[in-house]
Amino acid sequence: MGMIQSYVEKNPVPGWKKEIELGERAVAIVNQMRPKPKFFVICGDLCHAFPDQQPEIRKKQETDFKKIFEKLDPEIPLICLCGNHDVGDTPTTETIDLYRSSFGDDFFSFWYGGVRFLALNSQYFEDASKVPELAQKHEKWLNEELQLAKQEESRVIVFQHIPWFLSDPDEETNYFSIKPNIRKVWLEKFKNSGVVHVFAGHLHRNAGGSYKGMPVTVTTAMGAQLGDDMPGLRIVRVLQKEVEQVFYSLDELPTVIDL
Ligand SMILES: [Zn+2]
Repeated sequence: MGMIQSYVEKNPVPGWKKEIELGERAVAIVNQMRPKPKFFVICGDLCHAFPDQQPEIRKKQETDFKKIFEKLDPEIPLICLCGNHDVGDTPTTETIDLYRSSFGDDFFSFWYGGVRFLALNSQYFEDASKVPELAQKHEKWLNEELQLAKQEESRVIVFQHIPWFLSDPDEETNYFSIKPNIRKVWLEKFKNSGVVHVFAGHLHRNAGGSYKGMPVTVTTAMGAQLGDDMPGLRIVRVLQKEVEQVFYSLDELPTVIDL
């Protein structure tokens, strides 16, 4: 919400009409999908304005964001994750509290159809300098979830904002992925704990790769694009043995999903 006009078009006047239009189109198509999706997940950066820099604009964007997603079929839960734009590049207890009061927990797990889903707050891996205790809690929680998953031998799917890597687990430090020293530790833990797929955002392009056979998929935005992709959604089919995923632009998004 707000990135197209301010960042892509460099228009100093705040506005997010285009995102509203794209969001409403996406919701209308998802509502028609059959079978109904089990849930709809947005991997962070729900709105563009940083809460600590432009609080007034942020509030307006959040209001409009919620208006769009209130129209989602009530039988299709909306799962929101926080991105750097939602809690700040360097989160503080204030920005985390603001996020939680507006959207709920900034990290959590849930079950669906025998699969354990984890929603992370990847900003704790990026810069926890002002929230070391919160980052510790997040880390403890994640370790416990992975431990449980290992004991239960359950399949795990992870959602996060910043991807571990864009295409290659050995890639060097870059703005869009998590630092290599932290990346390696968690990828190895994930791999050993039953994680079968990781989904992320942040890049505003489609990308992805795999770590020892565990795919990390990056989905572009429903709004502003920084590459050649079109705004769209990824449909993920969790089958008996595998997880299949295909990205569709809004123009191509099907309403009948073959399971
Ligand atoms: Zn981001």
